[in-house]
Amino acid sequence: MTTEGRGMGQKGTDPVIYLDYNATAPVRPEALAATTAALAAVGNASSVHAAGRDAAYAVDQARERVAALLGCSPSELIFTSGATEANNLAIRSAATPGRSLVVSAVEHPAVGEAAAAVADSVGSKVYTIGVHRDGTLRVPELEEALATSPTLVSVMAANNETGVLADLDLVVRLAHEAGALVHSDATQLVGRLPIDLRELRLDLLSLSGHKFGAPQGVGALFVRRGTVPAIRPLAYGGGHERGRRPGTLNVPGIAGLGAAADAARRDLEQEAARIRTLRDRFEAEVMTALPGTRRNGHPDQRLPGVTSLTFDGLPADALLAAMPHLAASEGSACSSGALEPSHVLLAMGLSRDEADSTIRFSLGHATSADDIDRAVQCVTDAAHRVRSALHPNITTTAPAHPGGQEGTRRHDA
Ligand code: PMP
Repeated sequence: MTTEGRGMGQKGTDPVIYLDYNATAPVRPEALAATTAALAAVGNASSVHAAGRDAAYAVDQARERVAALLGCSPSELIFTSGATEANNLAIRSAATPGRSLVVSAVEHPAVGEAAAAVADSVGSKVYTIGVHRDGTLRVPELEEALATSPTLVSVMAANNETGVLADLDLVVRLAHEAGALVHSDATQLVGRLPIDLRELRLDLLSLSGHKFGAPQGVGALFVRRGTVPAIRPLAYGGGHERGRRPGTLNVPGIAGLGAAADAARRDLEQEAARIRTLRDRFEAEVMTALPGTRRNGHPDQRLPGVTSLTFDGLPADALLAAMPHLAASEGSACSSGALEPSHVLLAMGLSRDEADSTIRFSLGHATSADDIDRAVQCVTDAAHRVRSALHPNITTTAPAHPGGQEGTRRHDA
């Protein structure tokens, strides 16, 4: 898709090609309609009068739709403000004084930092499992960590930077044998690949609506009935969500989440296949046009819509600045004024220079074949311009675009 509508995302007269679905996806029309209808109505889902009951009905319907997408019971879902909150709630609830927590080295900070803080507060330790060069988990390290009798193992379902998928069946089996609960941050997987919690026996799962076409600021935590001893709310307040998440429900956001879940579920497999074909073509054409470009992550065991590419000798920030008509993310984050290399890419064994030359492109439900044709052209033109600006003796074409940072995103987005 090209971005329109908010008066943003336009550079000059050319629309921006949006390949940053892992940061956030465009709102689906079904979600926009459901959210707009809920915004136009009045009613607090906790009120007992008719307006309140209408709001509660919209929430119940959304809960059923999200449950249908996951293969769980509606009562096993707690609506939250997104995956950050869901991850924090999961980790805080599962932590037990004196018992360790286990996380992977490539988790989003909403898991990694939450685990460190929670472990600190209950006087326990965090064990971090490394990954191989292809981003898959080092299983012997998981087995070693399980020997410490942890209370919780948290492994993300799909990595936000590379799309690499975890073997969650294996993680669940090993962790349960060791008596640990299992949480997965499935923010990047839900709505993009099928998942069935009747078969995959996770105890806790986090999701975020804005990654698959719901508005930003809404998500959910799945808590398998009867497994987690107690959900410990992150805030004091009312008894919403059966005492597990206080605060007036975000009815418009939740209605949008339900509608996006429903829309995603309808053609999940066909959409995944369509997006995979587009992604593979994008990758192949860019890598052919630009020798020295390498793909990061397992070639097959990854999300259909993501490619992480390292452009040999070309800094990602210069490259992105040279393609202002394409929105993608770099593998480094600006932290305290300095550009920090991605912890995910470093954990996979990339050097700092390689991480600094890496861009994540992520496709989704509104990406078209035309977007891909134009994106390939954009990336190859930009790479030629940056290369000739940095190495003028090798090739001479137009100078690198000196423009701003449009199109760059933090790696933890
Ligand atoms: N986990 C992962 C893997 C993510 O990609 C993100 C979003 N960048 C989050 C958690 C945080 O999600 P939210 O924006 O809903 O808080």
